[in-house]
Amino acid sequence: MSNGRTRSDALVFFGASGDLAYKKIFPAFQALARRGKLDFPVIGFGRSGWKREQLIERARASVSENGGYDERAFAILAERLEYVDGDYNDPASFEKIHQVLVARHAHRPAHYLAIPPSVFPAVIKNLHVASCTQDARVIVEKPFGRDLESARALNQTLHEAFPEERIFRIDHYLGKEAVQNILYFRFANAFLEPIWNRHYVESVQITMAESFGVKGRGKFYEETGVVRDVIQNHLLQIISYVAMEAPSGMYAEAIRDEQAKVLRTVRPLEPEHLVCGQFRGYRDEPGVARDSRVPTYAALKLYVDSWRWHGVPFVVRAGKSLATTYSEVKVHLRRAPQVVFTEPTPPAPNYVRFRLSPEVAIAIGARAKRGGELMVGDPLELSVVGTPMQGQDGRMGDYERLLGDVMAGDATLFARQDAVEAAWSVVAPALEPPRVLHEYEPGSWGPAETERLGGQW
Ligand code: NDP
Repeated sequence: MSNGRTRSDALVFFGASGDLAYKKIFPAFQALARRGKLDFPVIGFGRSGWKREQLIERARASVSENGGYDERAFAILAERLEYVDGDYNDPASFEKIHQVLVARHAHRPAHYLAIPPSVFPAVIKNLHVASCTQDARVIVEKPFGRDLESARALNQTLHEAFPEERIFRIDHYLGKEAVQNILYFRFANAFLEPIWNRHYVESVQITMAESFGVKGRGKFYEETGVVRDVIQNHLLQIISYVAMEAPSGMYAEAIRDEQAKVLRTVRPLEPEHLVCGQFRGYRDEPGVARDSRVPTYAALKLYVDSWRWHGVPFVVRAGKSLATTYSEVKVHLRRAPQVVFTEPTPPAPNYVRFRLSPEVAIAIGARAKRGGELMVGDPLELSVVGTPMQGQDGRMGDYERLLGDVMAGDATLFARQDAVEAAWSVVAPALEPPRVLHEYEPGSWGPAETERLGGQW
């Protein structure tokens, strides 16, 4: 997406040796190079005592492991890469960054904070002192705080050097092709709008299930838990796309205004509409407390208190070590008012299904008559699957898209502070250690208690 704003002319990324850089950022750089979009210097900053060659080797290992080494594209990336070694607390290190930017005639850099949030204040302050923030953008990664209060504090830190329109908060979920398709499919077609409301929709189900556990990141997970990890951010963003009103245009604020409006109208979670679970064995993971009460699973029933959605439950569930891995939105329609055909089993209601991963699909659940004498039918799905929705040259990676958007100054797919704060307010009761924590078997569908929320998965 592009909106005619000025382009950033350099990318400085902090945390060059980190996990995120390795898994996501270098592969995104290579992908941008492949599409001819890496036309700016890329300056890695770290405190590892590296030289430029080590950064290049790290980038090579990263792309080889995460998506594949592309000789031609990587050569472009390697040529663009520079490295500055320093200390996050030392103003002189930031003076070095400034000098590199000046030498490259870069006056509008984007600074990517791929570092722990505890380091943000020092980096922001030192960037400012070293005159690196004028006309600059800043990219921060989720989590945007741990709760409403800390989100506001983080925001204050960012605002000391950057106005809101130059802050890009990455919730990489919004960069996914399948998630954008919720928005596109809703508003590029006319047939959904008449039924997309409380008169026709009975309930909305959103699932983000992972069959794996915490993959050795127990220490991180103890600090986070499922609500902070995926519900406050990814799943509430999805609710905003499913429930929002039509934006007045495709410019960033038109869409972000509508998202924020939805999140502000989500009723704060009621404690009886929350089910928390922890998979058996979680407490044996390295870095996890033996008496941990951190939920690895949560199911929530939410209501969007708007004219359109009044009374329609949005049931959300997310968890680790579940039966399978998939993410999906399923919008159940109300039953037909009258039973015309008497069938052995009552037909299930129609639904619209957005499969977000592992495969991408949009499907409408319906019924059609079975061949033969009787007026009985079978459920079927009218569906679009895979490639038409993924682009002819393959899916554009989420980080590739998002970094390209930052450089172009397009904030559409980035979380705005008011939406972030609204999302923290919604989940506030789920951030406390749960009063009741249900243990569930790895490989199951989580606590049976979830059934009382009435989700139709
Ligand atoms: P890491 O723990 O791997 O740290 C990133 C880098 O930060 C380190 O390699 C180090 O780089 C630098 N660093 C500077 N100061 C410190 C410090 N005091 N303690 C630890 N590291 C320090 O983090 P990630 O790469 O996993 O995450 C970076 C950011 O992205 C975080 O805000 C995280 O919440 C977010 N994030 C990460 C995801 C992931 O999958 N990893 C997913 C979504 C968000 P150096 O030595 O080069 O300076």
